[in-house]
Amino acid sequence: MSKLPPPPEAPDDAAARRALRPVICYPTETLPRPDLGAYHDARRGAEKTGEVLIAPREAECFTVQAGHFFRISSVGGPQVGDLNLWNPRDMPERFYSGKTRALHGSHVTTGDRLWSAFPVLRPMATIVEDTLGWYGIDEWGGAVHDVIGTRCDPYTGRLLSGGDYHHCCHSNLTRALARHLDIPAREAEPHVHDVLNVFMCTGFTRDTGQYFMKASPVRPGDYLEFFAEIDLLGALSACPGGDCGAAHSSDAAECHPLLVETFAPLAPPHGWTPPEPNDYDRSHGM
Ligand SMILES: [Zn+2]
Repeated sequence: MSKLPPPPEAPDDAAARRALRPVICYPTETLPRPDLGAYHDARRGAEKTGEVLIAPREAECFTVQAGHFFRISSVGGPQVGDLNLWNPRDMPERFYSGKTRALHGSHVTTGDRLWSAFPVLRPMATIVEDTLGWYGIDEWGGAVHDVIGTRCDPYTGRLLSGGDYHHCCHSNLTRALARHLDIPAREAEPHVHDVLNVFMCTGFTRDTGQYFMKASPVRPGDYLEFFAEIDLLGALSACPGGDCGAAHSSDAAECHPLLVETFAPLAPPHGWTPPEPNDYDRSHGM
């Protein structure tokens, strides 16, 4: 039997190297700020235009016009949701969880934006209200609404446990999109992407760096509300993990529905114009 080699010995200046101060990768001082005051003013006179109730362990699609608002609410009991967003006229322009994380941090809240994929890279939606904004970062480093997780899926389930479970968020989102676009699941699946984990409380353990979850602090009545910067097709899955306090990828957890509501303002927010695609010329030095 071969043994793993021992870890290399630390160099003499290890402590000095570790003591270097971190620098922020993407300082956001030059990032255009949303005018939240103007959004809130527009929201005050807005009228509800529709709603979609997402059953536990299922997902549904919804559409939002540019300049309108949508709200995701907890109803019935603590429940986590997995959100996908697309430009309905150009599906490859979809929510880019990784760049959103790099710009705004591992968890998002009021004032943060959900950015779209290259080569467009523009805000798709802006968070205008978060009733869990009080949570902050807890003693384990946990926080709410992460853009670090991927989504529960049957492939990782098979890898780790060998079993098949068809109501993971990845499959729920695939079925919802397939129904909405009236296409087969295999055609819908490649559009499903890394999510915003709405209401989920997550972080990385300090000692092993592992992704962790803990019971969401969300309660019925809590909501996360967005302003749609562009026309949006959304899909939201009510995760089979419920509040994600113990298990997911099974029927074990207690699950609840989630509500998506859309609202049309009387007039767009003062000074708002839909964001243009990024103006990099895509020549890549060629
Ligand atoms: Zn899930």
